[in-house]
Amino acid sequence: MSSALVARFEKRFAGGTVVRADWERPADQFSVTALFGPSGCGKTTVLRCLAGLEKPEIGTLVFGGETWSDADRRIFLSPQRRGVGFLFQDYALFPHLTVAGNIAYGLSGLSRTERFRRVADILDVLHLNGLGDRYPGQVSGGERQRVALARALVCRPRLLLLDEPLSALDAPTRERLRPELRRVLAGFGVPAIVVTHDRTEAAALADHLVVMDRGKVCQDGPVADVFARPADAAVARIVGTDTVVPGRVVGADSGLAVVAVGPARLLAVPPDSLTNDVFVCIRAEEVVLVGGEAGASSARNRLPGTVAAVAAEGPLVRVSLDCGFPLVALVTRPSCAELGLVPGTVVTALVKAPAVHII
Ligand code: ADP
Ligand code: MG
Repeated sequence: MSSALVARFEKRFAGGTVVRADWERPADQFSVTALFGPSGCGKTTVLRCLAGLEKPEIGTLVFGGETWSDADRRIFLSPQRRGVGFLFQDYALFPHLTVAGNIAYGLSGLSRTERFRRVADILDVLHLNGLGDRYPGQVSGGERQRVALARALVCRPRLLLLDEPLSALDAPTRERLRPELRRVLAGFGVPAIVVTHDRTEAAALADHLVVMDRGKVCQDGPVADVFARPADAAVARIVGTDTVVPGRVVGADSGLAVVAVGPARLLAVPPDSLTNDVFVCIRAEEVVLVGGEAGASSARNRLPGTVAAVAAEGPLVRVSLDCGFPLVALVTRPSCAELGLVPGTVVTALVKAPAVHII
């Protein structure tokens, strides 16, 4: 059966907030979709509408050719009839039920033997063997996450919905579980929609991105496309493009377009269909810093600049530069130390023309 999802609806809250879903996934592309955007942009609301926990006042929701919600025709299928698995942000496990009891909770209607078998199967698949008799308070955070996932999967849903599945975990556990969760999702072959505000998580878990901002969908496409070619300056910032500055196309040179940025800086950029006024987007990891005058490099853009600020970012260092326009670079700690980067250090930033995205 086709698992295409067509979400075109609006949820309106008392107080005036409107959250609008407007996207679809054809069956052949459907695997893991991330609903991605800043806190409060409406991700959970869209997910709850997909699950049938909220009722949209306007529009339609269709899954695999079956109408789940249609405001005009007064159609609204209950969560049970949709066959969705839902993993809540805080897991919502019952503390007074064992792990096995929590997982079996949604399996009413099946025989005792069948319930037992299903629970044993899923415990095995998610490497939770031996934990069935414990209570949620007696297992680790990572195990609780898998128990919640087991509970969402045990009913064999047609669509799996996960709300910030890793956000309750400490950073090292989260990093360890990202690839594992991705493997589990792929292994089950159930289309999944993952809500996250964390771009690393979106990139690690999903192959398709739906970017939301202030109650609306602003871009939707394959993860790599959205990260490399954000549709506008707002999306560029949301997906973590560190440098987004206005510029003006002033000419062409050797097959590349030339864009003026800031008061006195020219950048070589890819020549594709440019209007006059543009935004120049450069991801921090595309910027290479070298000391003083640049030596040999194939990078077309060599930008003398001064370090304005230096801040540790996990294992890397985020360097804010003044290159006649604000430019952000991400460098390793050793190269930061080697270049002696402190506010006031003069460096050259190297940026290859293809690494500059113009919108
Ligand atoms: P996200 O999951 O992206 O952080 P939410 O979907 O939780 O965002 O919320 C989106 C917006 O809708 C927020 O402004 C929030 O305050 C509002 N909202 C969510 N639930 C309700 C509710 N039950 N009543 C009123 N406003 C709500
Ligand atoms: Mg949320």
